[in-house]
Amino acid sequence: MLRRLNEKSWKELDALKKEEVYLVLPISSLEQHGIHLPVGTDDFTMEAALKDLVDCPELKGDFWLLPSIHYGISPEHLDFCGSFTLTPQTLCAVVEDLIHCMTVHGWKNLVLLNSHGGNTSLLHGMAQTWKRKFGVDIFHVDFWGSDFFNDAASMLQTPIQLDIHGGEIETSLLLYSRPQVVKEAELKTMTDDLPELPKYRGSWTAKELSPKGALGGATKASAETGKALSEFVKNKVISQLEAIARGEG
Ligand SMILES: [Zn+2]
Repeated sequence: MLRRLNEKSWKELDALKKEEVYLVLPISSLEQHGIHLPVGTDDFTMEAALKDLVDCPELKGDFWLLPSIHYGISPEHLDFCGSFTLTPQTLCAVVEDLIHCMTVHGWKNLVLLNSHGGNTSLLHGMAQTWKRKFGVDIFHVDFWGSDFFNDAASMLQTPIQLDIHGGEIETSLLLYSRPQVVKEAELKTMTDDLPELPKYRGSWTAKELSPKGALGGATKASAETGKALSEFVKNKVISQLEAIARGEG
């Protein structure tokens, strides 16, 4: 089960077998997602997933949810208003401060549950350094910058590798879980922007690839697809967390 750590007292938490349980730290972003989705999209998809996962009896294992980090690494979106990014150094410093507190109290396992692709390579790149520095094992569940949605390809009309940002997946998820924040009138004016990410130039920006900021098949999105994708996200996170708890990866 995944339970909220901040609802417990220090005495309750101190009584846990801390070296055996898994802390889960959600990390998202605040950044543009095209003209049809809000800048809080990565936060809202995370919130919807957590709503399905917290206290869900289907999830086996002992997981404890930390309060979320709502900002991430988003310099690629800074050309668009409403995007706020941390520097990699700042995000690393915040996560390191939390890991330091884990070591004080004897927690040994941290799962970084990440809903923004811009965070993925940094968090993976730091994991071994944090292990060496703090003696804590770091695990990753990434919605983006990973193969997380590959098995959902058959639910989509857009080729999965081209549905990168504010496309069919994210638009569908919000049409289902939080339709009031989707800008329906703007969505009707959209055309799909399906560029491939540059093969060698890592310093691409979203605006260079798409003037409206969305990369993917937003016009193909529907609440029905969002319902199926929400179920997919819930089951996928459960299967990845359970694999982590079984020591499989
Ligand atoms: Zn996103």
